[in-house]
Amino acid sequence: MEIIANYINGALVAPQGGEYIDNYEPATGKVYGKIPRSQADDVAAAVQAAEAAFPAWSALSIQERSRFLLKISEAIDAKLGHLAQAESRDNGKPIKLAEAVDIPRARDNFAFFATAILHQEDEFHNMGEKGFNYTLRQPIGTVACISPWNLPLYLFTWKIAPALASGNCVVAKPSEVTPFTAFLLSQICIEVGLPAGVLNIVHGLGAETGQAMVEHPKVKAISFTGGTATGARIASIAAPQFKKLSLELGGKNPNIIFADCDLERAINISARAAFANQGQICLCGSRIFIERSIYEDFKKGFLQRVASLKVGPPQKADSRMGALVSKEHLEKVFSYIQLAQEEGGKVLAGGHKVNLPAPYDQGYYLEPTVIEGLAFDCRTNQEEIFGPVVTLSPFDSEAEVLMMANSTEYGLACTIFTENLNKAHRVAKEIHSGIVWINDWLVRDLRTPFGGMKNSGVGREGGFEALKFFTEAKNVCVNY
Ligand code: NAD
Repeated sequence: MEIIANYINGALVAPQGGEYIDNYEPATGKVYGKIPRSQADDVAAAVQAAEAAFPAWSALSIQERSRFLLKISEAIDAKLGHLAQAESRDNGKPIKLAEAVDIPRARDNFAFFATAILHQEDEFHNMGEKGFNYTLRQPIGTVACISPWNLPLYLFTWKIAPALASGNCVVAKPSEVTPFTAFLLSQICIEVGLPAGVLNIVHGLGAETGQAMVEHPKVKAISFTGGTATGARIASIAAPQFKKLSLELGGKNPNIIFADCDLERAINISARAAFANQGQICLCGSRIFIERSIYEDFKKGFLQRVASLKVGPPQKADSRMGALVSKEHLEKVFSYIQLAQEEGGKVLAGGHKVNLPAPYDQGYYLEPTVIEGLAFDCRTNQEEIFGPVVTLSPFDSEAEVLMMANSTEYGLACTIFTENLNKAHRVAKEIHSGIVWINDWLVRDLRTPFGGMKNSGVGREGGFEALKFFTEAKNVCVNY
């Protein structure tokens, strides 16, 4: 049994109330560990430690802070295999994916922000005869970082690294569904000698531990990634206290295939965009719109590609898709396949749970599922499913596809396939989303602004945007 501890004031400690939550392994459906069910008193201890550590941490030179973050990055790299195994076990994702994407990205997040602060410049506004202004960017104090289960260590560190780099102290909570690599990160912080209280990781349920972080009066900024409803709840608590908020929320992303695209490339990338990480990436393209003249050709090629996506135990090298993250989530995704059929959709591929032999017979496996024949404004095409389910819809004109693509409450990401340069840029400009890929998907440059429009969020992460979020700008005006 793997028993997780909180990381508070530099030490691994049990929750004060002594309560734990079961941790399930999605591949087998079995309990394999215990997670602290922390309460407001644990959060208060973490905030106290962060407040005590803040004066010394924020006073370090940027070179010294950079060095600490680089040490964490190097330690993640040294343990890449072990961390990938742990992530795969906790989340159900193929181990190959954790090795190739999740853990390298966690390593890179620390290295990126460790070096970004060495290159940051502050603004200077010259008023000529009257003098000048300069901008001081100062750390906020204690900040909270709350992350979801789909890319556990990847998204956790994407928040923690810029928060620490800009001189804040952090109280952080990973998802209670996938807490294990955050626990391993706390061990790494102890190993590399990160000063006590600079980072505190408190485990527990969202409505208890997470909410106690959001409510705590000393927590001055909250960086949150998760569902839109949770984001609204957090905003309703934080806004009246005038806390800074960065909210990265849900998506229902369109993938637009024009007739003049490179069809083979569009098919291959669309299959990845639909089913990578079992379709549990906020950026997954779950609504595929195909220009009518190539609809049948695309469909044929796409279904062939999907047929080659083997669902299997995450530890096996030939599994292209692993288990969904939890039983509840599997049931939720499965219920949308039933809803799609009630709404008149035809299942072209998949649609069933997968029964693997023991010891995986209780695991949460679902076939990659492709559905056609649905109206663009039905629930299946409007609500976030966050699983391996995509819909195919034909379109006749650019205006029509823009209308359908922009019709949801979300605005996170969009993918466009066309060889026509003008059309690509024209459509990118008209799409209501924070991120647009042309002829590709999930290519990430950590310097670029990352975030959503509409109900997909408020604020941007990435590059200097994140460093700006985690600092207060102070203008100093000087008269000659
Ligand atoms: P969730 O909202 O249920 O939980 C996210 C985190 O918030 C968890 O750590 C949870 O414990 C915590 N939480 C829950 N209630 C809380 C409360 N009242 N106060 C404070 N914290 C609380 O989301 P999830 O199911 O873990 O993740 C899936 C969602 O995340 C999807 O909607 C997906 O689109 C979204 N997501 C968005 C992005 C992005 O960058 N925009 C990235 C990944 C995932």
